Amino acid sequence: MSDVAVECRGLTKSFDVVSAVRNLDLAVEQGEILVLLGPSGCGKTTTLRLIAGLEVPDAGSIRIGNQPVAGEGVFVATEKRRIGMVFQDYALFPHLSVSQNIAFGVPQRASETRVQDGLRVVGLCGVGGRMPHELSGGQQQRVALARALAPHPAVLLLDEPFSNLDAGLRLQVRSEIRDILKANRLTAIFVTHDQDEALFMGDRIAVFNAGSLEQVGTPEELFFAPASRFVAEFMGQADFIRGEITEHGLQTEIGPVLQPVTLAVGQRVEVAIRADDVSLVADPQSKAKVLGRSFRGAVNVYRVRLPSGRIVHSLQPHTLKLADGLLVRVQAEPGHPLAHFAI
Ligand code: ATP
Repeated sequence: MSDVAVECRGLTKSFDVVSAVRNLDLAVEQGEILVLLGPSGCGKTTTLRLIAGLEVPDAGSIRIGNQPVAGEGVFVATEKRRIGMVFQDYALFPHLSVSQNIAFGVPQRASETRVQDGLRVVGLCGVGGRMPHELSGGQQQRVALARALAPHPAVLLLDEPFSNLDAGLRLQVRSEIRDILKANRLTAIFVTHDQDEALFMGDRIAVFNAGSLEQVGTPEELFFAPASRFVAEFMGQADFIRGEITEHGLQTEIGPVLQPVTLAVGQRVEVAIRADDVSLVADPQSKAKVLGRSFRGAVNVYRVRLPSGRIVHSLQPHTLKLADGLLVRVQAEPGHPLAHFAI
């Protein structure tokens, strides 16, 4: 028995002239939460719909568990794919009670147990008799999850399931849903364009760019070792400064950074640097200038212009106050290798 829950090979889909998904190879392990992340229009939803059987691929194949479901002359209908789906608009049936919603799509003899199990799993015991409009948005989304889980799917597909929830509830519900998925060792593919959500939800993240996969890896791998400038930019507010590979390693416009380098000596590079990698010390001799401060509660984020004109951000404790216009020495103190790209 394979440990792969879903496998896409060479998956390709166009709509007229739009190439939505291009030659996609992707595998999801049993019990894994894989996040599909990328900007609007990059092909995330189309990939999910292809896996769900709501779209027919132009080329390539899909396997769910050991069963081929699309490609090579096979096309298995959505209802036979053993998938559960949760979308952003909950899509509960408004005229059915919570229990009836959960029981929908479950064989009748099993429905009572599945409804009770579903309510328990999502922490809503006791609300089975209520109608959807009598629940909060977060509760409705948990019912949608219970309904998707009730037929015991092999894999759960979630498309921006929290985007209709307000900010506070969103954090709470996503944490609850992640706990439920993990406690029940469920396999899930989760679409979002929000990198914070991806870092929080994903065991691994697949970053899409214009229909193709840019990189797949753990949240830490993508955050600290982005394979391309696109991933570095997308995974969290990186600034880019100029640098060069020298005999002593990576030299940047804010000084040397001690780290392994693989590019040849003399190669000019763009270095991705984030606010938590940058330290500031007041120094009237320096030519870097504080442009402004953004108060974020526990921390301040400073905007600083380097002599080259490039802007970097620096995250500092709220206790450190630096006036606008102050000249500061800027240093890279990342504590991890900085991603850099040849230019
Ligand atoms: P978003 O985050 O905005 O939902 P996405 O990454 O999920 O975006 P898709 O919805 O997969 O992107 O769309 C990929 C591309 O395919 C887009 O250019 C979109 O306009 C196009 N597309 C998707 N579905 C259709 C369709 N049914 N007919 C025509 N074009 C489509």
